[in-house]
Amino acid sequence: MFSKKELERMRIEGEKIAQSMQKDWEDQKVGLEYIAGDVEVSCVHCKHNKFEQGKALLNTRGLTFLDLDWLNNDATTLICKRCGFIHWFARSVVEKDSED
Ligand SMILES: [Zn+2]
Repeated sequence: MFSKKELERMRIEGEKIAQSMQKDWEDQKVGLEYIAGDVEVSCVHCKHNKFEQGKALLNTRGLTFLDLDWLNNDATTLICKRCGFIHWFARSVVEKDSED
């Protein structure tokens, strides 16, 4: 059996998880603002400023064949939430703090 205190703690934890899931879902729906190289990212096509972040491999068969896989690198993609334009960054981007 759980004590009343434990049940209360579990209820609060559950609410926190539900809230963060809700927030994640909203973030995913509207997108987030990002900063790359100290500059706020805005879509080159439609000037929108909310994106969905993704990862892509900058991978080439040639490098793998030559055993130079260490040259292969991660790229960050930001997909515009309005028009879908994909922006590629060879470095990581920073999420803008929405509380600012
Ligand atoms: Zn766009």
